Amino acid sequence: MSGQVGRLAVVGLGPADARWLTPEAASVLEAANALYGYGPYLDRVPMRPGQSRHRTDNREESARAAAALEQAASGANVAVVSGGDPGVFAMAAAVCAEIEAGPPAWRGLDIAIVPGITAMLAVAARVGAPIGHDFCALSLSDNLKPWEVIERRLDAAASAGFVIALYNPASRARPWQLGAAFARLERHLAASTPVVFGRAVGRADEHVEITTLGAARAVAADMATLIIIGSPQTRVLVRPGRMPLVYTPRAAAGANA
Ligand code: SAH
Repeated sequence: MSGQVGRLAVVGLGPADARWLTPEAASVLEAANALYGYGPYLDRVPMRPGQSRHRTDNREESARAAAALEQAASGANVAVVSGGDPGVFAMAAAVCAEIEAGPPAWRGLDIAIVPGITAMLAVAARVGAPIGHDFCALSLSDNLKPWEVIERRLDAAASAGFVIALYNPASRARPWQLGAAFARLERHLAASTPVVFGRAVGRADEHVEITTLGAARAVAADMATLIIIGSPQTRVLVRPGRMPLVYTPRAAAGANA
């Protein structure tokens, strides 16, 4: 295989099954000689004879990226899979970091990032248009950054009027962070601010709940949940016999449009 320029694609699988996988992602996965990723994500990719699979633990991102780059450097066509979009709190940045730290030859590889639907978009679509105006996304995980940084960013985002999407809100190892984040946000936002919990959206066990900041229960969230906190402009339209529509108007209060 040597002599050939290796290729490494970082592929977004979307938040659920193949309905939310792009045709581009499907064809890149099909063409790869080797797939790397967290086991449950690899399980979503149809098996193809002759294609090797390298399952790694969720926490071993840099080792996984390095192993994939090494195989690509030997001339192989490698795909690393991520849930959602690979550029959002996922493998694309891990691969870039390994390239930066790794041997010069890795900079000569053909690297492609293949986008996917990120969880925030899937959850937003389920309830209406909560991110119809300015928004930001934060990971609530303090594995890779100090909690004080997260608090500062929550303060800044809420006081600036952004709708906020929270990825990684809770896990068994991080049980208190979401409650602390809600308490922090209540310093800036009314208790009536709409809050959306979207769990396992697009999967068989999907559960979506619309509540308020004052009533939100942090214990209702787990690793498969994404939370959207409204801005002071976000509205909830109640409808007879149907889920309310949550939306943030496209014009901010005070706009001279
Ligand atoms: N790269 C992924 C995000 C990885 S971080 C993406 O773009 O979506 C993992 C977090 O994503 C989870 O803790 C959860 O907050 C969110 N998430 C992933 N899939 C989800 C789904 N189907 N429904 C709701 N949230 C999801």
